[in-house]
Amino acid sequence: MQELTHWINGAHVTGTSGRFADVFNPATGEVQARVPLASKQEIDHAVAEAARAQPAWGATNPQRRARVMMEFVRLLNRDMDKLAQTLSREHGKTLPDARGDIQRGLEVIEYCIGAPQMLKGEFTDSAGPGIDMYSMRQPLGVAAGITPFNFPAMIPMWKMGPALACGNAFILKPSERDPSVPLMLAELMQEAGLPDGVLQVVNGDKDAVDAILDNPAIAAIGFVGSTPIAEYIYGRGCSNGKRVQCFGGAKNHMIIMPDADLDLAADALVGAGYGAAGERCMAISVAVPVGEATADALIERLIPRIEKLKVGPYTAGNDVDYGPVVTAAAKANILRLVESGVAQGAKLVVDGRGFKLQGYEDGFFVGPHLFDRVTRDMDIYRKEIFGPVLSTVRARTYEEALAHAMDHEYGNGTAIFTRDGDTARDFAHRVNIGMIGINVPIPVPLAYHTFGGWKKSAFGDLNQHGPDSFRFYTRTKTITSRWPSGIKEGASLNFRPMD
Ligand code: NAD
Repeated sequence: MQELTHWINGAHVTGTSGRFADVFNPATGEVQARVPLASKQEIDHAVAEAARAQPAWGATNPQRRARVMMEFVRLLNRDMDKLAQTLSREHGKTLPDARGDIQRGLEVIEYCIGAPQMLKGEFTDSAGPGIDMYSMRQPLGVAAGITPFNFPAMIPMWKMGPALACGNAFILKPSERDPSVPLMLAELMQEAGLPDGVLQVVNGDKDAVDAILDNPAIAAIGFVGSTPIAEYIYGRGCSNGKRVQCFGGAKNHMIIMPDADLDLAADALVGAGYGAAGERCMAISVAVPVGEATADALIERLIPRIEKLKVGPYTAGNDVDYGPVVTAAAKANILRLVESGVAQGAKLVVDGRGFKLQGYEDGFFVGPHLFDRVTRDMDIYRKEIFGPVLSTVRARTYEEALAHAMDHEYGNGTAIFTRDGDTARDFAHRVNIGMIGINVPIPVPLAYHTFGGWKKSAFGDLNQHGPDSFRFYTRTKTITSRWPSGIKEGASLNFRPMD
């Protein structure tokens, strides 16, 4: 069996804690590797080495750092197929979806090539007599990223790209469920010219995360994962005096107005609800048709589309719409929630519970499920299922549909399908959610905008990628300078304007 490593000072390093986690092939259920779980000592060593490497990297001019990003993009494109194969084998998603995962990370690296522009700072000439004032953005030192299993290429790149382009050293603690692609990214960064020690990848679980949270040399932490862990990391990280941003779980509603193109809406729901087996933080998990007639017509269109979905291993190529979920525990949790939906009175109109795939009986496959007549008190509505399960909550009016989206504790993304511009505009203005789609089911902003939810989907005040990422990974220093050349004001003890 393959034994994975950490990546410290530009080399693969064997774990020394004696603790490991199994890495599965979710399609077959087989353990294909084991990953070391770092101890506090291993984390502290990686951080100390990163702190040693950072000053030279921080002093490297921004265009040279940007050139490393440029070369990294070339290498990602060169190795796209190899990365996608590894990603699919550990995560289970289809190959086109794995390429999308890598591509959306790559686009953030492309954005980071603009670091010299983003880091320019501000200057005021003659703010007072002989006085100039300017501000500069300086790196924080060592930053860390803790990332989830569901985008093992994209989210590590969302974190490491801006952090490194800003001149920080970076400690990546990827998900222990699919750690191979993050290790490959580190190898490619080295090949692109990143000095050793500036990017460290340490694998691990709660012990490693706690060591990161408590290490005083780490100035900032970016986290993406489930909400309970996001809250924990935000609380402990902030109380240790760090800058922290945490992105959590989701329950994304899609409102379907009576005037919507229902075929378009049904296609969108199938893609957004079942793509990647529903393991996306921007997946649509709740459909909210407005009016009984809209709901009946929508369900009638959804059922045949969902029943046609092909579930299988990524090795089956284009014959598969979505693959297995990540672990047996994830599968059991999804099926438990489906049972709770039936027990609590929701109508299961597409029942995937008996799903079996010949030749892959031990794989973590979950058939597609569609619930109708879900109500707000049910567990399948309140909880994030993170599986191929779509719940339909019927609303009588637009206001009622809007209230469903607004009252839910999560606020990552939402969408409305309508032909009416007034309704779409009203929705975009009033809804208390971070990312909104208008006739777009998965409104993930591109690299040069920012990504982030509201309410229990995000903690901290800056978003991921886009201009916010350059703010998060730098701190501002403002300099007031005077070259008097002949100006004599005498001493003053007052706090006074400059002019
Ligand atoms: P997770 O919370 O289980 O794990 C995320 C990270 O936290 C991993 O690196 C893991 O090792 C670590 N971790 C797990 N348990 C921990 C503990 N007790 N203490 C400290 N660290 C711990 O999340 P996951 O299952 O890997 O990912 C799925 C979740 O991520 C979903 O809730 C999904 O909505 C969310 N997600 C959110 C976004 C977003 O931008 N809002 C994006 C992707 C995924």
